Amino acid sequence: MATKSFASSADTSAKEQTLEVLADGVYALTAEGDPNLGAVEGEDFVVCFEALATPVAAEAWLRKLREHTDKPVRYLVLSHYHAVRVLGASAFEADVIVAHENTRDLIAERGKEDWESEYGRMPRLFPSPESIPGLTWPTATFSERMTIDLGGERGDLVLEFCGHGHTAGDLVAWLPRQKILFAGDLVEAEAALYTGDAFHREWSSGTLDRVAAYGAEQLVGGRGGVARGAEAVSAAIEQTRGFLTTMLREVGAVHERGGTLKEAFQATHAALAPRYGHWPIFEHCLPFDVARVVDELSGKDPVIWTAQRDREVWDQLQD
Ligand SMILES: [Zn+2]
Repeated sequence: MATKSFASSADTSAKEQTLEVLADGVYALTAEGDPNLGAVEGEDFVVCFEALATPVAAEAWLRKLREHTDKPVRYLVLSHYHAVRVLGASAFEADVIVAHENTRDLIAERGKEDWESEYGRMPRLFPSPESIPGLTWPTATFSERMTIDLGGERGDLVLEFCGHGHTAGDLVAWLPRQKILFAGDLVEAEAALYTGDAFHREWSSGTLDRVAAYGAEQLVGGRGGVARGAEAVSAAIEQTRGFLTTMLREVGAVHERGGTLKEAFQATHAALAPRYGHWPIFEHCLPFDVARVVDELSGKDPVIWTAQRDREVWDQLQD
């Protein structure tokens, strides 16, 4: 049997990017399971949400956005520190780059390693990698909440921390008037979860409860299509929760009896595959996800993923 290619390194087919207008001046870019982006128009500026992996990748999105508005980007909001969300930031020429304070710390602590790891795992998401000028540094951070007044009659954009989740520093962006939530990687809509830096127990309970409590009528997750309508929003949140609780249950049982990482992986794969196995990046993510659940159940903080550790965990779990 042929060996499975490492992570998403063999995934070279381009995905189609679609700009959707969710409300007047509110935009989402989805891309068939690749990372999503968003933008919200203020009276005389734009707030962009997420930055993709390279400036060249981000420029393709900005060209689409520029068909709708030519206002300058005042704020670039980053939902968390992962390379495929942040390293394209320079293309936006934003006045302010906003992130959670933990995200700034994580970039300082492990940004370089994460860049190398993600490039190795998903090279297709890094067009013209030489266009990346260096790590992206947030210039405004907060711990609980930050509000951006959009000006005129446009209301506020609320940025909030809902607890530990996909990383230690995820934020969501909420438009109370339009009831639209940009959830970052805290919610995936029919895409597999990457949880290699996650806090599964908190994410699957208090954090997702807070996300659900917004009562969003449209939700843009980290990957997958826009959830439109309260029912679809709730389904996306509960699919995400189900993925997490299944992992906790399966890895927990193996962990309890002192089983190996490989046994935990096989049990989790068998439990998740019928419902989630056909979703984008499932096979890519699961080895890293299971390794992190084992660490979390052992009381460890997320270990820094390096290109070398990626390969070691991957090789250990392939047949
Ligand atoms: Zn992420």
